[in-house]
Amino acid sequence: SSNGIPSNTQHTSVIVAVRVRPLSTLEASRGKQNCCIQVDKQDTIVIGKDKTFTFDHVFDSGTSQEQLYNGIVLPLISGIFQGFHSCLFAYGQTGSGKTYTMGTNCFGPVTPTHGMIPRVIQDICNHAKTMTKEYEISLKVSFIEIYNEDVRDLLRQHSKRNIDGISNPPPSTKIQVREDERGNVFLEGVNEVVIQTYEDAIACLESGAIHRATASHDLNERSSRSHAVFTIYLSKRPLQGPKTDEKIVSQFQLVDLAGSERAKRTNAEGTRLKEGISINTSLLALMEVISVLGDEKKRGSHVPYRRSKLTRILTNSLGGNSKTAMIACISPSEDSMQETLNTLKYAHRAR
Ligand code: ADP
Ligand code: MG
Repeated sequence: SSNGIPSNTQHTSVIVAVRVRPLSTLEASRGKQNCCIQVDKQDTIVIGKDKTFTFDHVFDSGTSQEQLYNGIVLPLISGIFQGFHSCLFAYGQTGSGKTYTMGTNCFGPVTPTHGMIPRVIQDICNHAKTMTKEYEISLKVSFIEIYNEDVRDLLRQHSKRNIDGISNPPPSTKIQVREDERGNVFLEGVNEVVIQTYEDAIACLESGAIHRATASHDLNERSSRSHAVFTIYLSKRPLQGPKTDEKIVSQFQLVDLAGSERAKRTNAEGTRLKEGISINTSLLALMEVISVLGDEKKRGSHVPYRRSKLTRILTNSLGGNSKTAMIACISPSEDSMQETLNTLKYAHRAR
């Protein structure tokens, strides 16, 4: 076991959900039909005439951010305070609603359109505030991007820039993934920013997004080729009583994955080939890791964490005592039917 907890006491739960985004006004104005997607009993999706898939939850295009949050994300929050790690992913082709769903580019106070990251931050901060009489609680965040198997710190650049007063972004800092003697995976030198309030954490999300954007001429292009991982670290220790040295340390990792359509671009050349292979490897490894962890019958099977940077970085959160939810995002447009089918097959294999 990687975290010192005997494996027979480990508890991993995995939820796989699908979210259908609404048809955009542009798609609607072009007269795109929705590709005969039907949602049944909130857990089954029928695409075309007869392709049926069942998941833990299927959220139709009328689902609000709040409904999605209450449905599958809120249950991950309480676990954090009990020593469980959590992971939330958005998977899907570019344009399917991953960033909207995660709220990776949502700043300011939570509004009805704010996605999951700000809502998770808000609830963790609020929950922590109610416990400060009995516990010493510390919260930190980090924000990284994985591009072509390189890890970049989206917060470090910001602090450097502030300290040196340099107006051009310095070359991005590459971060090494390391393992300590107990098998815990960590990111060497990554900037973990101590936060006190929701506003502090959102400021980190925003500065990370700014650096992601300035590193590329087109944020959409950039985000379709890289995985963004925002992590909240919680440490909690009783202030009084016999258990004052019992410290709970847990983390919640929120991941806006690279566009899944990129994984197939392995017949490209040069940079695009490298990108395609890297995305393909990491998304496949992720699916295998989740499918082993989520299946009682596969307990004890080899978990291929080491196959990609993405899965290595998620080793702590995914293994051991953890709760994971994956949201497969799909578009209702008939143009996207093939990619939608690919996404549903992927999510189904992960389940
Ligand atoms: P991705 O990150 O997968 O490339 P985006 O999150 O950027 O996709 O979504 C593409 C477009 O669709 C954006 O304009 C986004 O605001 C919109 N969108 C996605 N999901 C929803 C939703 N559930 N409700 C309303 N608009 C959405
Ligand atoms: Mg995106």
